[in-house]
Amino acid sequence: AAKVRGRARLAEFNDELHARAEKRVQIESDLRAALRESQLFVEYQPQVRLKDGRVVGVEALVRWRHPERGIISPADFIPVAEECGLIVKIGRQVLQESCRQLAEWTRLMPGCPLAMTVNVSPRELAEPTFIQDLRQVLASTNVDPTALCLEITESVMMSAPEEVVQVLDQIRQLGVFVAIDDFGTEHSSLSRLRDMPAEVLKIDRSFIDGLSSEPGDTAIVSSILSLAYAMGKHTIAEGVERSEQAAMLLRMGCDVAQGYFFSRPVAAEQIAPMLTRALWHPSSGRALHAAQP
Ligand code: C2E
Ligand code: MG
Ligand code: MG
Ligand code: MG
Repeated sequence: AAKVRGRARLAEFNDELHARAEKRVQIESDLRAALRESQLFVEYQPQVRLKDGRVVGVEALVRWRHPERGIISPADFIPVAEECGLIVKIGRQVLQESCRQLAEWTRLMPGCPLAMTVNVSPRELAEPTFIQDLRQVLASTNVDPTALCLEITESVMMSAPEEVVQVLDQIRQLGVFVAIDDFGTEHSSLSRLRDMPAEVLKIDRSFIDGLSSEPGDTAIVSSILSLAYAMGKHTIAEGVERSEQAAMLLRMGCDVAQGYFFSRPVAAEQIAPMLTRALWHPSSGRALHAAQP
């Protein structure tokens, strides 16, 4: 009986693998169409300077308006795009569009300096034309390179073959900043971190969750902040959802934060009105939920 059950389970397992593979192939072919038919678009999430609540930057986050399935989250298609290589084209489109948008905001509001942050996959960094493409986007949109920041994940940094470090160096030479995304989730080697040409650490959302309630999380966040300070790096906390978290991060010396507490990622039109006033007041702890859906 055990054997029969085992076989049944194996068949089930095979079916599941098969279904998953089919789904992947489907997503891949739909993604090709998405690129051709401009179904991808970018939303922006404000990044707030904690000491005064002002928006100092935005993170560009790609979305997919699928003709039948509606809006698809990047978590569901970026991994497939990375596997099949389409991420290179997607990343290029996102970079171009977000730099175009940044140039527009800068033109409209010259008094509000704003930074644009764009996620970049390891697969894109490995592309021989990456630096050339980056230069081309900067030139064609006329964006100040020091207003652009590229986010790479910690896993890239830590497995970093020499070539990645070289590409990061070239990015830095252009004046573009580099941030380490989801910091703290992978095994970090401190000597690696020291040698990395990255100026910003983004503290992963999973640690912000338990800030103030989980002593362990508070300790982790506090040591990341002191490490960053000692290494002369800036810090951005991800996934701030509550006022206490923002207040605590401010007290702990974190520079900038983003999260649903301030604003979800929103369409470009909704960003402009947020640039001229504070999104929260540290003294009262109140957020001005500017564009909450
Ligand atoms: P990420 O770079 O770590 O981006 C932050 C994610 O956290 C975003 O999810 C954002 O919407 C979400 N988030 C922000 N604040 C909060 C909060 O307070 N609570 C919670 N629960 N979540 C919050 P999103 O937009 O679904 O993106 C998921 C991931 O997909 C990103 O994680 C990034 O790794 C990847 N991604 C998104 N856009 C791009 C892109 O253009 N290129 C590449 N290569 N990857 C991208
Ligand atoms: Mg990111
Ligand atoms: Mg990321
Ligand atoms: Mg992240």
